[in-house]
Amino acid sequence: MEIWAGGERLDWRRDPVRVHAFHLVTPPDVTALEVTFQFLSPTSPSQGDICMTPAILALRWGAMVLYPAGYFSRRIRVRASVLLPSDWQWACALETDVCDGSQTTFKTTSLDVVVDSPLLAGRHFRRIDLDGAGGVWLNLAADFPEQAQATEAQIEPHRALVREMDALMGARPFDRFEILVALSEELGGGGVEHHGSCEIVAPSRYFTAWDANAASRDVFAHEYGHAWNGKFRRGADSWTPSFDRPIRNSLMWVYEGMTQYWGEVLAVRSGL
Ligand SMILES: [Zn+2]
Repeated sequence: MEIWAGGERLDWRRDPVRVHAFHLVTPPDVTALEVTFQFLSPTSPSQGDICMTPAILALRWGAMVLYPAGYFSRRIRVRASVLLPSDWQWACALETDVCDGSQTTFKTTSLDVVVDSPLLAGRHFRRIDLDGAGGVWLNLAADFPEQAQATEAQIEPHRALVREMDALMGARPFDRFEILVALSEELGGGGVEHHGSCEIVAPSRYFTAWDANAASRDVFAHEYGHAWNGKFRRGADSWTPSFDRPIRNSLMWVYEGMTQYWGEVLAVRSGL
């Protein structure tokens, strides 16, 4: 990591206890810092979740940002951009501002929204409009092209899930929702919920061995349901002003318990 101010390189040190915190002394008159750093993605599960393979990238902004301490994350404005291989496709809950070849720049928004809006990109990618109105998208990034070749009969219960959730909840707490699915044996992670998207790592044979995978399909209903239960509405003590403050989980039985309950009910109702 390098930190520069007015053409001068500044020394920094890592906090010995809070390992994601960095300390530095800014010279007087300095109003802006330029920070560059490299993120070394894990190459084996023993180092952490693998988030990048030769065919798939799960870009989790939380590992890509440095922000000033002492501010509410919703008050910190971020203009995120990403440069991807030219033949890759991607999906992300953030609103696109400028798309210039392989470089995409998103509209300026708050840090908490950026960190909560991971980007999924891949070489073998498929993007499917689930509600026919561009409101909910199923995005598939696969290790190999044939793994993303879902049939319409396989897509249909995912469409039904959107209809059943509308019927249950009445209104959506988002304008657009991106279901980000990696069909991979390499990529790490399982299911992670967000307000406008969810990340699911499914078996690479999720579609090609469809009949064998019924038991793993309720994760779609579970993660989608978290947009309502856990994100739009969350346990009072699980809210914090910034990402460096620990959350409390006294209402985890609602956050996960009710989501798991409705996930199983809706998986059945939708035919998953
Ligand atoms: Zn959950």
